[in-house]
Amino acid sequence: MIQLSQPLSELDWIPRPKLTALKRLEIETVEDLLTHYPRRYEDRSEFAGFPRDESETAICICGEVVKTRLVRFGGWKKIFEATLEETNSNALSEPLVLRWFNLHYVQKMIATGQRLVVFGKPRLRGKRLCMEHPEFEVIENDDDISIHFRRITPIYPATEGLPQRVFRGLIYRVLENLALESVTTLLPKNVNLGTREHALHEIHFPTTKEQQVAAREHLVFSEFFAMQMVIGARRSAAASRSGQAHAGGGELLEKFLRGLAFDLTDAQARVIEEVRRDLASTQPMNRLLQGDVGSGKTVVAIAAMLLAVEGGFQTALMAPTQILAEQHYTVLSRWLEPLGVRLALRTAARQEESGALPLFTGDTGRSAPHVIIGTHALLYEGVSFENLGLVVIDEQHKFGVSQRARLTAREPAPDVLVMTATPIPRTLTMTVYGDLDVSVIDEMPSNRGKIVTAVREPAKLPEVLSFMRGQLEAGRQAYIVYPLIDESEKLDVKAAAAEFELWRERLRPFRCDLLHGRIPAPEKQAIMEQFRRGQTSALISTTVIEVGVDVPNATLMLIENAERFGLAQLHQLRGRIGRGAHKSYCILLSEEKSPETVAKLAVLEKTSDGFEVAEADWEMRGPGDLLGTAQSGLPALKLGDLKKDAAIMRQARAAATAVLGADPHLNSPENQRFRELIVEQHGRTFSNVS
Ligand code: ADP
Ligand code: MG
Repeated sequence: MIQLSQPLSELDWIPRPKLTALKRLEIETVEDLLTHYPRRYEDRSEFAGFPRDESETAICICGEVVKTRLVRFGGWKKIFEATLEETNSNALSEPLVLRWFNLHYVQKMIATGQRLVVFGKPRLRGKRLCMEHPEFEVIENDDDISIHFRRITPIYPATEGLPQRVFRGLIYRVLENLALESVTTLLPKNVNLGTREHALHEIHFPTTKEQQVAAREHLVFSEFFAMQMVIGARRSAAASRSGQAHAGGGELLEKFLRGLAFDLTDAQARVIEEVRRDLASTQPMNRLLQGDVGSGKTVVAIAAMLLAVEGGFQTALMAPTQILAEQHYTVLSRWLEPLGVRLALRTAARQEESGALPLFTGDTGRSAPHVIIGTHALLYEGVSFENLGLVVIDEQHKFGVSQRARLTAREPAPDVLVMTATPIPRTLTMTVYGDLDVSVIDEMPSNRGKIVTAVREPAKLPEVLSFMRGQLEAGRQAYIVYPLIDESEKLDVKAAAAEFELWRERLRPFRCDLLHGRIPAPEKQAIMEQFRRGQTSALISTTVIEVGVDVPNATLMLIENAERFGLAQLHQLRGRIGRGAHKSYCILLSEEKSPETVAKLAVLEKTSDGFEVAEADWEMRGPGDLLGTAQSGLPALKLGDLKKDAAIMRQARAAATAVLGADPHLNSPENQRFRELIVEQHGRTFSNVS
């Protein structure tokens, strides 16, 4: 008998080359193979009659090849034709002509006398009914008939080196010999969706359409349930950690707010209160702060840090890029040093500490920095913290769960605030961030100028240029963004380094600078600083400026080859402008006219709301790796669709909450399977389940 967890290489009847091909698809165990689900099904239990007319729906028919021929045209081009007749043809039957253009191998596979099953749309070509490039299978023997035909037949995602029938044959044989007891049903008892074993049979070789639908529901529920169990386990692990109250009295915060040149938005004030409550509690904070680009998350982070500093704790602020860490260091130094707060910067490239300053009242007199700002270096460079009370992670979607854990998994637990500019739709938040409490800044500061976004062809560059010059003359600044650094990256894309000279010409006499990832860190820092101070008018840059960079006087952004960026990324990039009172302009240069690109770029012309952009992205691309399952440490979804199956997700969430509510440590015998197969596989880092 075959075990579910068995490696396929142990099944000696699978030929080597097939194993290799499977491995390329990351199918290495029996379970991998059985969770390679069909893309669709063909009801071959009864074949359709031969068509009389053309139709828009594809049909599946079975017949006999009565003639084949090769037609040449235009020199080397070939059409291979096979004429198919109904098996019990009568005087009224019309043959169907199957046609393939320039597909040499098809010709080798099809011969007169064979029986074929074909799937495609019948079309009139002249007087003949034809199917062009149909999917087809040759019926070879009676065994074939029972596996591949006379049933609802699974059709697998097309793969190289592994034809449909190989997959079907392998899966059929594995299912026939699968040891029942090796297939654990990963659903709680009160969820009545049958056994996993049954579901696996029915998803691949459904007895009826209804059975297939039920099997899918079982498997989708299982996937979602596993995900929710991991999230739930993380949540309860976090909740059971012992923390400390970290909030000080708030005088320091008051001073900071009084010194600001603007009033907080209502949303900012509300979120600061939410954070203050968490900080004051001894329960460790695990809060996600969501807010569109430019909504003012940094101020909230500072408020949180000041409360913790006044409470006598050290705080850390982690950013994904050196440029952003430097910016935070600059901005925070300006705002906080006058309050007597000592800051330190820790990046791989640079370490700096602010000088001795008069201490604010209540300081214990230690000389360790109160606020440590850094990049990933904070995790690895042996930075030692004294009394770390609060960790803030900016642009958290750029970090993995394990990185987050590295900074926060210490005892006693520090409070954790992670910030993100909503790369995911609102409806998904609970799914993905179910282990966190969520605060949302749903309001932009009122002093913001509008952002106008326009898509232009490169041919329009002269007009674009004169517009840009007008803006620069009015004292504004510009970003010009390229997808790549230099042309060595092969693709036919104009690269920042090569185009820099050209832009200098175009924008003369305004000062331009070039910024990209390979420029040494101190120089990068100097370039940003000059731009921030307005000494440079235009920055020709790669996506190193994608996150966090805040220069309110920069109101112009031109993105070259905009089609090469994803929607979320374009929105992030565009978030660099529209940060001040002036009206801003984002020009997306692209000559690509494919419907997908046109639709994608049109979204940005239509809205500058990050939530709307995220929803549209989801609509167009599907959730894809939105979850970043690899990064989030959650089990992957192979079948479940976060949008279509949202109702199942809600049920799965409720089921997981119930199981963990009744048995938080998963100690009961019947919950062992969840603990072993779900939580331990995926949630180790955060799990208190031991
Ligand atoms: P993000 O949410 O993208 O991180 P930032 O925190 O960088 O946004 O804030 C963007 C800009 O808005 C900064 O220059 C900041 O000083 C400013 N800002 C923040 N809050 C307000 C406010 N309430 N009113 C006006 N400007 C604000
Ligand atoms: Mg920011």
